[in-house]
Amino acid sequence: MATHTTRMLIIGSGPAGLSAAIYGARAGLKPIVVQGLQPGGQLTITTDVENYPGFRDVIQGPWLMAEMQAQAEHVGTRMLWDTIVSVDLKTWPFRAVGDGGDIYEGETLVIATGAQAKWLGVPGELELSGKGVSACATCDGFFYRGKKVVVIGGGNTAVEEALYMTNHSQDVTLIHRRDSLRCEKILEDRLVANPHIKVLWNKAVDHFVGGATGLTGVSLKDTVTGAVSVEPTDGAFVAIGHAPSTELFKDQLAADATGYLIVEPGTPKTAIPGVFACGDVMDHVYRQAVTAAGTGCMAALDAERFLAAREHRQARD
Ligand code: NDP
Repeated sequence: MATHTTRMLIIGSGPAGLSAAIYGARAGLKPIVVQGLQPGGQLTITTDVENYPGFRDVIQGPWLMAEMQAQAEHVGTRMLWDTIVSVDLKTWPFRAVGDGGDIYEGETLVIATGAQAKWLGVPGELELSGKGVSACATCDGFFYRGKKVVVIGGGNTAVEEALYMTNHSQDVTLIHRRDSLRCEKILEDRLVANPHIKVLWNKAVDHFVGGATGLTGVSLKDTVTGAVSVEPTDGAFVAIGHAPSTELFKDQLAADATGYLIVEPGTPKTAIPGVFACGDVMDHVYRQAVTAAGTGCMAALDAERFLAAREHRQARD
């Protein structure tokens, strides 16, 4: 068991964590990134990425994350393969413990643990993920231009994704397990008014249908009558919500009703000076790689300022 000390400890290695690392390393903070259970984050489970600026041709999510990691290491970041199991934000330096017992001490802490899309957990979902089944219309919707798609869910995300998909497809079906939506009224009005969207009410997905060539349909069960049917489709977007990875910080940092960490508006600052949150762990609205990278950059700049101010105070007193 070892103790690792750094001026900037970063938990999470998606675009937010690695952007914080790039900026932190270039500011001489010698960051340590603890990669977590899914090194590279959510982009490592997508395939084609066409909306990250800087690449005229389509790039692959795992490739982008490997490049970001290499860039972070190139400027002086230490990447460590570990999963943090507990943190103590009451001491300074802040302290985290890895699952093998290693201790990490950071003069600043950047939380970039991200969020996970919730999945239905029904047969065929995992097997057809990336072959017609997706959890992000903004990321993958473009690939279904002119095709038939379904969106599953009845909240803001599902309705926004269904509306977004009409930019690409004239045949969008929203599938919801009840007979009323839980989204905002204005979104519901837009949904109802959109001629390219139909809604299947009271339908739960029983399993996804497809094979080697990809998804061909969704098998549905009526939640009232029990009747079974198959809805043919080329693409299915599961939009039943996201869960931020904030379990570690429970009781130490404030979170909103859905679990997202609360930061000072317009900044990545948490209520504890020196502790910053960036990316999907604090943003349930935008949830894009590029916005996560932006807030990671902001976290590193604020971490640098926090340390400089602290040193200034120490020199003065
Ligand atoms: P929500 O939790 O609001 O909605 C999830 C939807 O998925 C519900 O309709 C729910 O059904 C359905 N669902 C959940 N689990 C299952 C399941 N196993 N099978 C079938 N259906 C399921 O999640 P959202 O991601 O939509 O929103 C999360 C938060 O983010 C909300 O506060 C939302 O307002 C906010 N948000 C805001 C946006 C904005 O302001 N522009 C955009 C997107 C999200 P049921 O209704 O039956 O429970």
